[in-house]
Amino acid sequence: MLRVTFLALAVFAATSFAHGPGKENDFAGRRVLLIGIDGCRPDALRKVVESGRAPNIAALIFTGTVAWNAYTGGEPDAETPQETSSGPGWTTILTGVWRDKHGVTDNRFRLHRIAEHPHVFRRIKDAFPNAWVASFCDWPEIHGYIVGASEKLGVGFLDNHHTLVPDPARKGTDYAENDAKLTEIAMEKIRTENADAIFMYFGNVDETGHGVAHKEGRFSPTNEPYLASIAEVDQHVGALVAAVRERPRYAEENWLILGVTDHGGIDKGHGKQSAEERTIWMFANGGLAPRGKVVEAAIPQTAIAPTIFRHLGLPPQAEWGIPFAVPEK
Ligand SMILES: [Zn+2]
Repeated sequence: MLRVTFLALAVFAATSFAHGPGKENDFAGRRVLLIGIDGCRPDALRKVVESGRAPNIAALIFTGTVAWNAYTGGEPDAETPQETSSGPGWTTILTGVWRDKHGVTDNRFRLHRIAEHPHVFRRIKDAFPNAWVASFCDWPEIHGYIVGASEKLGVGFLDNHHTLVPDPARKGTDYAENDAKLTEIAMEKIRTENADAIFMYFGNVDETGHGVAHKEGRFSPTNEPYLASIAEVDQHVGALVAAVRERPRYAEENWLILGVTDHGGIDKGHGKQSAEERTIWMFANGGLAPRGKVVEAAIPQTAIAPTIFRHLGLPPQAEWGIPFAVPEK
């Protein structure tokens, strides 16, 4: 009833409620911001963080929990490893299952089974139809395939989404601009909507590693263009976090901010099973995430989805096939 009352009031007092009802959402004020940085090697991120060039991500890590030794690419002893590329990686992050279940083998998304293992935000909306979820992305496949395949009978489940499509004529050099534009768009929504869960994707670090966004770029902790692209994304992360914290009733809310990458890289590519390509990072800040903790254990990329569910108080159902094993202590 509280929710109905709030919504009814909001119609008449949109401005006074525009910045947030504090605790009055379906999740008692708990909210999630998931930040995805494509193709960001953990050793490179760590170097940028430890050299003071990524103060915003550093603050989230130092006051939260970080895993520098997480992994993508499937379970190490699996018969069918998962390609270390964006299609399989983001699908695993956003559905909580590996390729053996979601069926995404590469960036072409052929013969996938995402409909059987849909996007986390679809699960949230199924359980709480009044929840407000949004996604901002400049790699169009995420919305085109992962979100699209998670819709039921073509009915969308995102309350807001924005896709910035790279201009083919720019040959990958517009990702940095698009990351910045997308940040502005997402900040506006963070300020003006009562988001329960937001996914924010940044593409420029991966394009720099490929030598596309910057011709000298490589996936390496010693490559300056690659490190600079991570430092640039850190500014966007800082802007998003500031928008969250500027919400007038932020003090009554409980935000979990998660960060993750889809894969590493080696030289100018990725896709195979080397440690440089398989090893990823993830961090959690807020909610139940311990402060100042470094998780030494290897954490699977599948851990992001259940961490979101746990924060929102929505335990994964057994039939979803999502392992519910996120370290808390
Ligand atoms: Zn890539």
